Amino acid sequence: MSFGDAAASSSAMEDSSDASVCTICLDALDRKRIVILMHCKHQFHRTCALEWFEPNKDPSTHSCCLCRATVAEVVSENGSRVCRMFPFEEEEVYMKRLLRLHAYEADDDNIEVMKKGRGQILKDLKNLETEKELAKKERKCEEYIIDIDEERAKLEKRKCAIEMLITYYEEIRAAISSGCVELLNDAVIL
Ligand SMILES: [Zn+2]
Ligand SMILES: [Zn+2]
Repeated sequence: MSFGDAAASSSAMEDSSDASVCTICLDALDRKRIVILMHCKHQFHRTCALEWFEPNKDPSTHSCCLCRATVAEVVSENGSRVCRMFPFEEEEVYMKRLLRLHAYEADDDNIEVMKKGRGQILKDLKNLETEKELAKKERKCEEYIIDIDEERAKLEKRKCAIEMLITYYEEIRAAISSGCVELLNDAVIL
């Protein structure tokens, strides 16, 4: 352990007298899945940390709620990267307007980002399924399982939102290329 690490961990101890507690909800860390913030290595419940980051849409400004260190990455216990947020949720009206503009300009950047987002969600849903199986096998407490189920429900909702937007964009593109633009203008004005 370097001097820097020792200093960081001793200040962490001052902030939180018990390292086995999630300082966001103050409940024991082992009651739910955890994440580790890089590079300060502070640990929180996965769902608590994600909720903490969510209101701030720009990940480059995310900081640890315990030591304020900039968060470069959020990793799970097994070291895999945890996605901090999925864009385009709850911004349906704004996104539709944006996509419509991009559809006319034949600019597919946003749709590519969304397709990537959808891919990430599908991957995460699969991982959650595996995590749940494992948690059941290891006889984790009910709270632990509920936490997984809640995250799954949230991701399912987001998957639907992204799929709806992708379909919306593809329909506009199809309408534009088939020359139904005027009809489309009337139909999609919000
Ligand atoms: Zn917590
Ligand atoms: Zn920290």
